[in-house]
Amino acid sequence: MLNHQNLQLIQQQLASYNAQLVAVTKKQSLETILQLHNAGVRVMGENKVQELLPKYEQLPKDINWHLIGHLQTNKIKQIASFVKCIHSVDSPKLLTEIDKQAKQHNRIIKCLLQVHIATEETKFGFTPDELLLWLKQNPLNNLHHVSIVGLMGMATFTDNKTQIHHEFKQLKQLFDECKKRYFALQDSFCELSMGMSDDYPIALNEGSTMVRIGSLLYEL
Ligand SMILES: *Cc1c(COP(=O)(O)O)cnc(C)c1O
Repeated sequence: MLNHQNLQLIQQQLASYNAQLVAVTKKQSLETILQLHNAGVRVMGENKVQELLPKYEQLPKDINWHLIGHLQTNKIKQIASFVKCIHSVDSPKLLTEIDKQAKQHNRIIKCLLQVHIATEETKFGFTPDELLLWLKQNPLNNLHHVSIVGLMGMATFTDNKTQIHHEFKQLKQLFDECKKRYFALQDSFCELSMGMSDDYPIALNEGSTMVRIGSLLYEL
């Protein structure tokens, strides 16, 4: 069930930062997602293709679906006709394949490059050095069906707020550097997807433009 009060509070906070809500709907019922829709939310995030597909089929078509979790190249085909934005682009190969599948549908899919900022080993993404080295080679020249709109990152799962501040600050600095060096002429490179239920106030403070919030939106 939707927690209307939390949704309202979050929306007020986001408005004051000019940031966007991606309502994460993983593991939620269609009924709950419809409550979000009735409350006016139109940007929803799922982390798995196999959970996204049935929701896309059954829910109103004016929902902008974002894929926020790790994506395997062989699954892109299944979402390329409708997905609005992919937050979890973590390899050159994946980006090339998204471009290819988007082309089949004559679409442009927005993409965020995922950067590994946490200390945990398991999180996906480019390291900052890998990302800068790769961008230096002009890898985007021949990709006409993806639009790189920014970066995404997840902080370490910890109670240490100083560490979370530090990790988000580093991602914001990397974003600024990428913008200056490689996307200076592209207004579309403007999004920094960082912050989840537990750390989104810190992320907003450090310059997030998109927060991906799930659990806080729902009644336990
Ligand atoms: C689940 C998930 C979120 C939202 O997490 P909450 O803690 O429920 O807000 C954000 N980003 C990604 C990539 C996720 O998988």
